Amino acid sequence: MAILVLPRTLDAPVSNLADVGPTNAKRLEKLGVRTIRDLLLTLPFGWESYGGPATISSLEPGTQATVVGWVKSIAPKITRHRRMKLTEAVIEDDGGAPIRVAWFNQPFVAKQLHRGDRVAIAGTVKRGYVGMLEMQNPHYERLDQNADTQPARVGGMMPKYHLVEGLSSRKIARWVESALPLAGQLEDLLPEDVRRRHHLIDVADAVRRGHKPDGDADFGEARRRMAFAELFELQAAFALMRANIAAEPASLIKYRQEVIEAFKKGLGFELTNAQRKATWEAFQDMERTIPMNRLLNGDVGSGKTAVAAACAAMAHASGLQTVVMAPTEILARQHLRRFRAYLEDSVPGLTVELLVSSQTAAERRRVKTAAASGHCALVVGTQALIEEDVTFSNLGLAVVDEQHRFGTRQREMLRAKGLGRPHFMAMTATPIPRSLALALYGEMTLSVIDELPPGRTPIETEVIGPEQRARANELVRAEVLAGHQAFVICPLIEESEVLAARSATAEYERLKRDVFPDLELGLIHGRLKEKEEVMQRFVAGQIQVLVATAVVEVGVDVPNASVMMIEGAERFGLAQLHQFRGRVGRGAAKSWCLLLTDDPNDYNMSRLALLTSIRDGFKLAEEDMRIRGMGELMGPRQHGMSDVAMASLQQPELLSEVRQEAERIIESDPGLDGHPVLKATIARRLELTSIS
Ligand code: ADP
Ligand code: MG
Repeated sequence: MAILVLPRTLDAPVSNLADVGPTNAKRLEKLGVRTIRDLLLTLPFGWESYGGPATISSLEPGTQATVVGWVKSIAPKITRHRRMKLTEAVIEDDGGAPIRVAWFNQPFVAKQLHRGDRVAIAGTVKRGYVGMLEMQNPHYERLDQNADTQPARVGGMMPKYHLVEGLSSRKIARWVESALPLAGQLEDLLPEDVRRRHHLIDVADAVRRGHKPDGDADFGEARRRMAFAELFELQAAFALMRANIAAEPASLIKYRQEVIEAFKKGLGFELTNAQRKATWEAFQDMERTIPMNRLLNGDVGSGKTAVAAACAAMAHASGLQTVVMAPTEILARQHLRRFRAYLEDSVPGLTVELLVSSQTAAERRRVKTAAASGHCALVVGTQALIEEDVTFSNLGLAVVDEQHRFGTRQREMLRAKGLGRPHFMAMTATPIPRSLALALYGEMTLSVIDELPPGRTPIETEVIGPEQRARANELVRAEVLAGHQAFVICPLIEESEVLAARSATAEYERLKRDVFPDLELGLIHGRLKEKEEVMQRFVAGQIQVLVATAVVEVGVDVPNASVMMIEGAERFGLAQLHQFRGRVGRGAAKSWCLLLTDDPNDYNMSRLALLTSIRDGFKLAEEDMRIRGMGELMGPRQHGMSDVAMASLQQPELLSEVRQEAERIIESDPGLDGHPVLKATIARRLELTSIS
């Protein structure tokens, strides 16, 4: 019988490795691993040292340990509130001491282990609720009944890889092992002189030592090298992008004092200092023919729209048009109202028009004609429609609100439409610390609005454990009965949108049936076709309590909403929780943000408590970075950067060194012809991220 031997080269898909298979390949893809090269280059994010088997009576809470014992009981369960699957077991060692074990989201464990089995487990020891020792999600290995058999696969030093459901670090380690012979073929994207200057080992060495270190120092060196290389690649890519953008000039927008004076007069409020600074930065950019490419980063409600409007007014004074793109129709309409309020009275002759798909064909035609002829100074619309078939006679400025990758795609789309390189401004309410912005969006310059307009009532924030749940529900009911509205955000489910939608639907049904049968509830999640309609009904007040998944953009202003209730709050980053919180408190009434957790341990409670004392999104983002590492900030893999590189951002001087090295290369070799490996790597990365 012929055995099919699949080619095993660096560029071959991981499924070519023995026992990876298509299912595991799909799982690995979620971690950004498609090829054998990707697998090798994805180092573990840490190592765990569990030591050899210890007796249960000698275990210290907070330490990592290996235990060998007997399964006394084991059963699958479903947690009450979050409806998570869980396997619970009690294990006793020969000394008769028990330890409680819980495996979350691993219902299959109950099929693999049975009462009376001899088993080894390795994990972090905790003190449980009732004083009993426990481990959560330990590694496990079923052992022979013979009391002399020692565990072969758990305990000792174990690599920790990032995982998705269905994968384990052990499986990945096995696949890596089979791929390691290919490490010698990896080509180094770091030029040798750069490596020498920064004392970095080469890529093959780093891969070998990173996956199978001889100790902490080894692992540290491997990580440092990988982090440097990744940041270098990114910074080189940004330098290239900047050079490309600069190669095509934009129309100069001259600064005119009288325009900003009139604009300010028409506003009806004073710009905050932060708004003034951001506006000034943009004006300076636009006075050059190198196209502006600026990211405007400011908390929800910080007034980014007014900054964009000031820029539009200035563009108009130079005879140039502005386009504003929003992710949804409701947001586009909200922008329309604001831009009109800010501009139409104060800037003579400036008309603002809307372009969304619910308009009649005739109306859309009218707006498109006005845009094409240059009569209309500012078009606000959904990105989809603008992409479709709008042209401008003289586009000078493009503004993109809350889009992925902050509008890279939109910028390229305008160019593809023959509109060249207008000045470009992306806006986001996700607070991104400066170092992270430099690392991730290094092709853009950054303006930060770190100040809210005066006169906002602070939002009362409370952390609520399981026993206070009824009180939280009562607060929601009381607010709704008083004429207000509430959001309920469902717990974060990382692996799949299908699961998230399912759990949100279940939560919606539970609330409707058991908790708020008398109230008008609505449901919104990423897979729902009628998202806009649901949102519209919420805006109109027809829905009193809106149940939403975390993935749903709830970026619409609903001043009547006064409660934001977040389930499973411990699973979110602080900055993300803060963003949810910003959805309430937009009206005059007092508002609440309720952070619910079913896991009120000290760590969760003190982390969540930070939200009760800190109101600044950037401070919270920095706390996130400090506590959970940079990667947590943006959600797993959303950022397109490994945790190794993320972690290295804690040293800002490293990033600036990398940036200098990358800029030197692009300056001396703009086509990267002398650096083929770097060129190929960047090409691969751009291909992967250009459409996202
Ligand atoms: P963002 O888009 O940054 O979340 P918006 O631009 O939607 O915020 O502004 C939020 C609200 O605050 C709007 O009603 C806006 O008119 C108002 N606003 C903006 N800037 C100021 C200011 N300097 N003083 C008072 N109110 C302001
Ligand atoms: Mg906004």
